[in-house]
This record gives sequence, C-alpha cells and structure tokens, in this order.
Amino acid sequence: MSIVVQKYGGTSVRNLECQKQVLAKVKRPLQDGDKVVVVLSAMSGETNRLIALGKEWSANPDLAEMDSLVSTGEQVSVALFAMLLLSHGIRARSLLAHQIPIHTSSAYGKARITQIDSTKLKALLEDYDVLVVAGFQGIDADGRVTTLGRGGSDTSGVALAAALQAAVCEIYTDVPGVFTTDPNICSKARKMDRIAYDEMLEMASMGAKVLQIRSVEFAKKYNVAVHVRSTFSDEPGTIVTKEDKRMEAVLVSGIAYDKDQARITLTRVHDRPGVSAAIFGPIAAKKILVDMIVQNPSKDGHTDITFTVPRIDVEPTLKILEGLKLELGCEDILHDAAVAKISVIGVGMRNHSGVASIAFQALSKENINIKMISTSEIKITCLIEEKYTELAVRTLHDAFGLEKDSLKA
Ligand code: ADP
Ligand code: ASP
Ligand code: MG
Repeated sequence: MSIVVQKYGGTSVRNLECQKQVLAKVKRPLQDGDKVVVVLSAMSGETNRLIALGKEWSANPDLAEMDSLVSTGEQVSVALFAMLLLSHGIRARSLLAHQIPIHTSSAYGKARITQIDSTKLKALLEDYDVLVVAGFQGIDADGRVTTLGRGGSDTSGVALAAALQAAVCEIYTDVPGVFTTDPNICSKARKMDRIAYDEMLEMASMGAKVLQIRSVEFAKKYNVAVHVRSTFSDEPGTIVTKEDKRMEAVLVSGIAYDKDQARITLTRVHDRPGVSAAIFGPIAAKKILVDMIVQNPSKDGHTDITFTVPRIDVEPTLKILEGLKLELGCEDILHDAAVAKISVIGVGMRNHSGVASIAFQALSKENINIKMISTSEIKITCLIEEKYTELAVRTLHDAFGLEKDSLKA
C-alpha cells in the first residue's frame, strides 16, 4: 500500500457535478489498493467572497479574525466532499488543519508551514481509505487559525506529500498542466511535459498562479515530484522535478506575468551609507516583499530610489515611508499601481547570452516602454504599463518561438 496525495483547486470542487469528477479521480488509486489524502480548496469565488465580507464589516480587519473567516471556505468543501465519498460507500472523513495538526508561523494571511505531524494521519489511514484535508489553513503556536496566502492549498498538498513521504503530489486544476505561458491569455501557449523546480519557482514567483511559490519551494526541498494536471481530462500533465541536461538545452522555457504589482519612488533622498537599510529594513520587518529596486545616479548628494511591492502592500509601505520622510530627507513619495511585471524564464539562460536583447527588441517593436529591468541567472524581468500585459506576453512568446517544442523539433 502506498499513500497518494491529490490536491484539487476551487474550480474542481465548485459544485456537485465537478465534485463527482473528483470522486472518479480519487477512486482510481483506491482500486490499486492505495490510500488517498485529498487536499481541497474552497469552492471557486468563495475565498474572494469571504475577503469582501470581512472588508465590509471592517475597514481595517483584524488579521487573525480575517484568517478565521476566510479559512471557512475550505471547511465547507472538505465536509461536502467527505459526505459524497461516504454516500458512495468509501471509508472517508474530513480533517481541518488544527485536527492534524499543521503548524504554522503567526503571520496571519501569509503564514508559513513550520511542521506537520504525520502520526495521526498515518493512524487514521488504518481506519479510513480517504482523508479529506482542508487546504490553505494551519494553526499557530497560540492555537489560532492561520492561512497560507492566496493559492495556499497547493502548499498544503505538497507539504502533506512531503510529511507522508508520498512518491508524488498530484495537483488537479482547470488547465491540463504547466504551459509556456498562461493558456488563458495566449492561445499559442504549449503544455510542457516537464519543468525544473528552479524554473517553476521563477514562474510562480513572477506571477504564474498555477502553483503557489511556497509549494514549489517545499517540493524542491523535500524532493517531491509534483504532477500538475486537469481534473476534467485524463491526459498526462506536467511533472515538476529536478533539472536535467535536456532542460538546459532550451534557451527560454516560459513567460510569466504579474499584474499584482505597484511601483514606489522616493525622490531626492540623501545619498549616503545606511539610506537603503533605513528604507528597506522597516519594510522587510512588516514582511512586505520588495522585488525590483533601482537607484538613480547621485546629483548634488541626492538620489531617487524606485522599487516594486505587491499591490496589496502599497498602503502599508507608504505609511512606513511617510514616517521616514524626514530622516531620509526625501522630497516626495510617488506611487503607480498600473504596472505589470513580465518575465522571461529558462535554466538555459545560464549558458547563453543575448536573451535580454531579443526580449528588449521584441517589446520595442510593439512600442512597449520598459520602466524597470531586473535579471537573475535564469530570468529577465521588465516592468511595463499594465495595459500592455497581454500584448507583451504574446510578443515575447512569439519572439522565443515557444509554441514549438525545441526538444522535439
Ligand atoms: P486552482 O483553483 O485549481 O488552484 P488556479 O486558478 O490557482 O487554479 O491556477 C490555474 C490557473 O493558472 C489557470 O487557469 C491559468 O489561467 C493560470 N496560469 C498562469 N500561468 C500559467 C501557466 N504558465 N501554465 C498554466 N496555467 C497558468
Ligand atoms: N482558497 C484559497 C484561495 O483562493 C486557497 C487556494 O485556493 O489554494 O487562495
Ligand atoms: Mg491555485
């Protein structure tokens, strides 16, 4: 007997019809004599509805209560699905994170899993064939409910697979795998058979929401193979796995975009040692992720510093900066939320030059202005005006010939 971990997203559990398709998928490993741990998201739209409700009740909702609220979406899904399994004669029960327990940090809304005790799960698998676990949630050291950030059920799934030493974690979703770019905005997007952990990490952190970034970090750290595939078809999906030589032969693997960004500029701050630390230290202390940073050349002892943060963190960031204005000698604090990040990603970039210039030329041909640029070993990111996002994705997808599988050509 082995343990199979399957995670299903919001669209896969959105109604009874869809849950019956999930049921059919869960039955397969059972027929092989395996046990199944099913991790579920809330029904699609439910988490958004709960967040909106919280914001209606309070302009500045308490973060711990917000987690208590939004985690209920998953409680509904797991109870309903366990009922469906039971009504089909399958020995099953639902479990919330605190009943396992899945321990997390206390960073409400973006908590990190710190430890999963698999003892109880393993004991329960003696009596039950299917355990239906609520994704997205955890419990902190004070016994309070936490949530893992949007898309967090992916991380619950992979972390449970790691804790149970499952051979693979299957992530069932509404697309048949990981594509060269979002198939919902680029009709030429191509499904990949395999993708390296590092590429998937960049894709996820640059906006490809098919997998939450933390889930890929877990998969890489604990060597869990992740199989991303569709709930609504039987075709094989994409395996996220260790890098191999074949992957390096491909110059660019994918294009990601992230509209959830904002740009902040501090004008005429003092140009002297300690200024960056004074700005970014307090922002990091609030667990706000700063991504691209550019500092202009100094003029008469002053400089402009521009950086990006997730759009939801603009207000708290501005609040911190207002408090620092005097200390920094800063003239003005500007912000622009109508921006998007476009990233070109591929492990093959390590050994090839010229990728950046192909990308820049392609964008310039479409008259798309690049506001900021950042690079890593396997990624080039450009910040552009948000309204050009779709055009930029399609243009770059064409420029790198991604519709064709260069390994099969
Ligand atoms: P789930 O609810 O199953 O977790 P998500 O909506 O979180 O599903 O993730 C699946 C979505 O991710 C797809 O519908 C697609 O629009 C989007 N997506 C973005 N980039 C990619 C990509 N490179 N490959 C596949 N899907 C992508
Ligand atoms: N329900 C949560 C969300 O919408 C978690 C998830 O779906 O993975 O973000
Ligand atoms: Mg998701």
